[in-house]
Amino acid sequence: MPTETFEFQVEARQLLQLMIHSVYSNKDVFLRELVSNASDALDKLRLESLRDGAADADVSDLHIEIEADGDARTLTVRDNGIGMSYEEVGRLIGTIANSGTAGFLQELQEAKDADRAEGLIGQFGVGFYSGFMVADEVTLVTRRAGEKHGTRWTSRGEGTYTLDTVDGAPQGTSVTLHLKPADPENQLHDYTDEWKIREIVKRYSDFITWPIRFVPKPGGEGDSDGKGEGGSGAEPLNSMKALWARSRDEVSDDEYHELYKHISHDWRDPLETVRLQAEGTFEYQALLFLPAHAPHDLFTQGHQRGVQLYVKRVFIMDDCEELLPPYLRFVKGVVDAADLSLNVSREILQQDRHIRMIQRRLTKKVLSSVKEMMAKDAERYATFWREFGAVVKEGLVTDAENRDALLAVSSFASTHSEDGPTTLKAYVERMQDGQEDIYYLTGDSRQSIENSPHMEAFRAKGIEVLLLTDPVDEVWADTVGEYEGKRLRSVAKGEIDLDGEEGESTDSAQSQEYAGLLDWMKEQLAEDIKEVRLSSRLTVSPACLVSDANDLTPALENMYRAMGQ
Ligand code: ADP
Ligand code: MG
Repeated sequence: MPTETFEFQVEARQLLQLMIHSVYSNKDVFLRELVSNASDALDKLRLESLRDGAADADVSDLHIEIEADGDARTLTVRDNGIGMSYEEVGRLIGTIANSGTAGFLQELQEAKDADRAEGLIGQFGVGFYSGFMVADEVTLVTRRAGEKHGTRWTSRGEGTYTLDTVDGAPQGTSVTLHLKPADPENQLHDYTDEWKIREIVKRYSDFITWPIRFVPKPGGEGDSDGKGEGGSGAEPLNSMKALWARSRDEVSDDEYHELYKHISHDWRDPLETVRLQAEGTFEYQALLFLPAHAPHDLFTQGHQRGVQLYVKRVFIMDDCEELLPPYLRFVKGVVDAADLSLNVSREILQQDRHIRMIQRRLTKKVLSSVKEMMAKDAERYATFWREFGAVVKEGLVTDAENRDALLAVSSFASTHSEDGPTTLKAYVERMQDGQEDIYYLTGDSRQSIENSPHMEAFRAKGIEVLLLTDPVDEVWADTVGEYEGKRLRSVAKGEIDLDGEEGESTDSAQSQEYAGLLDWMKEQLAEDIKEVRLSSRLTVSPACLVSDANDLTPALENMYRAMGQ
């Protein structure tokens, strides 16, 4: 097949421009990204061979090689993993398969300061393209395990790339960077220097479970066995120790954070690291991370990359949904179970009693970590809740077993303060004498709720109201019903008696006086409403709509209507 030239997808081109004119000051991380991809490719190959025997694949010496050539100024990262077919190279390397990209780029353009831009890029995980931070040309040669022909991809990062079919390519993938001249002032180091490579691998990729070997120069002089120092006998650059199996005091926070970045494809540090080592009849180790930022696709289907499952240090699957409930789907990490079969499938996992036990235990552990964070570091908790509160609240509906623990770590915007949310506990402590219930109102935004006529009487009497704006709020408030014996009541539902003795419908003299008017209004509005009554809940507005205590609120009605019900 002749060389074909393709254009990058628009978004991919924009990202490449960003890489080339790097907003990201720490350029060393390109190597972490390439090593991370190589490691993923080795994981996938081993998995495939475990599953289906992968007939033609060679799994005898799976490893990663980093080959530096100081004279030619090239650096090659090579793996003998799963590789890619011609079609896959075009699809995986030429495009960015993420629907949030357009929005992301928009945000990025609006982000004026470099720190924020870095953060945004980090969230996006530009992976392979980061090679263009240090290289002016990148060549990738790959052959998918079991396939005959290989594929070469080349680009200068300027809008187009080429694809060729090649013969004789070894199994797996090699990525060769044609390095830009070193420029230490701009964080551009000499990446052919062995010590620099050692330092970077040690710092970012030490925990990678495959050996990473350094090869000084292909067939260099004085290299009698032709294998280079990086041959299979050579000492790997990384220790390959599974962090989750090591004791806490042996591992630095930085090491944990690098593992998090590898798993999550996030470039930023996690907010919290959660460790769990279960011993006994069913042994497992878990290392979980709470990210500092919600991903773009948290609420869309196909959200991916949660917790990885390992069995005795062998990677089994990404995104093992069975290990945590859906409302903790943003948690990343590793669970390594000792007593599962390497062949374990999703179907088996779904029914496995031990996996259910792990899930229960991990859920409790994550919730208790959040609670601890709340007590020890209010600011960090606030970040957590801002990013993930809307998801965690789904648990109030779906996880009755942990409802109390969930209520304890939840917080809500309230009329008490504009600065930050309140917990239910703090709300109850502030309740006025004689106030029996916890009041809330749902709506699209804080402002629209505060402008609601339902709020008037509460404002006038200084009674605190929770202002709930997430779609899930309607549902959980109904399902949960009460907190510590206090009813949760919507101020928009049913009759609310704020004064005790003179409630809404009790003043009979007034009722009689207005009976004629009320009847007339009821007749006029018969199609739209059930009842017209006098109210004491308004202080400024002449009238407001109220739902029956058991009716759907308007927002829920809209939600069901949108769902076609
Ligand atoms: P990510 O790793 O976050 O998916 P990357 O830009 O790093 O994003 O890589 C894009 C995709 O290209 C990967 O998901 C993978 O499918 C493919 N890929 C990259 N490097 C390799 C490799 N060394 N071997 C096999 N596939 C690879
Ligand atoms: Mg990657």
